[in-house]
Amino acid sequence: LRSLLAEYKGRESVTKSGRKVNVYANIGSVPDVAYVLENDAEGIGLFRSEFLYLGRNSLPDETEQFNAYRQVLQMMAGKKVIIRTLDIGADKNVDYLGLGKEDNPAMGYRAIRICLEQPEIFKTQLRALLRAAKYGTLAIMYPMIISVEEVLDIQKIVAEVAKELEEEKLPYAIPEQGIMIETPAAVMMSEELAEHVDFFSIGTNDLTQYTLAIDRQNNRLDRFYNPHHEAVLRMIQMTVDGAHKHGKWVGICGELGADTTLTTRFVQMGIDELSVAPSMVLNVRSKICEME
Ligand code: PEP
Ligand code: MG
Repeated sequence: LRSLLAEYKGRESVTKSGRKVNVYANIGSVPDVAYVLENDAEGIGLFRSEFLYLGRNSLPDETEQFNAYRQVLQMMAGKKVIIRTLDIGADKNVDYLGLGKEDNPAMGYRAIRICLEQPEIFKTQLRALLRAAKYGTLAIMYPMIISVEEVLDIQKIVAEVAKELEEEKLPYAIPEQGIMIETPAAVMMSEELAEHVDFFSIGTNDLTQYTLAIDRQNNRLDRFYNPHHEAVLRMIQMTVDGAHKHGKWVGICGELGADTTLTTRFVQMGIDELSVAPSMVLNVRSKICEME
């Protein structure tokens, strides 16, 4: 199978009738880029930046972050790299953030909520990202969004950061910016949200959890955690329609994006990008190339 799939290396992910779907890869560390290249992904659709914040005693500074982001951009040599801003909460061991214990961390103080509440942390990451944007094709993606107001707040902070870099005469660029659609609220508001962002990436792991009210971490609920649930699939369709109404592109970066029993359906729904584990890139590409 692997050698059969190898013939898809170097090929475009395009259906027989000529519809292009970008097949990107998900990564969680800098060394993972090797697997992205090995499997010939067309870009990185989700770079979880948590690795910078975990397993240590203090926040990573701007230089450390800048170096990591720049390295990935340079290794990808012009291919798109979508870096997701910090998505951490009380479910993770980050004592230095003083998050405390929460009864329900999945619905708690996490991700963009921390970033908007503690803008110093957010600004350090944004400064590093805007500076790294000079070294390749960067896009930034914000997790756990539920409202247009949050997007407007983010934009204000990005503008502040850009102004600071300008004044400090540090080279920077403002990259493409999108949001994760992983809450039912974001799906329901997708049409309005699409007016304010460059793209959407659907996080089906959390979207399934919140749509079905099934804790994704609780093994006891495995038989109920069904991302094929019609409610989840309709959420995806609604998100695609919301994005396309405003001419924005939309991808899937949750695990479901790699489910090849659904690839045809996703393409029919109008999905523009699928970001999957590096080992699944050629599988998904072969599915796309085989379909009409
Ligand atoms: C998701 O929720 O589908 C997603 C891609 O993000 P994470 O798995 O990191 O929560
Ligand atoms: Mg998520």
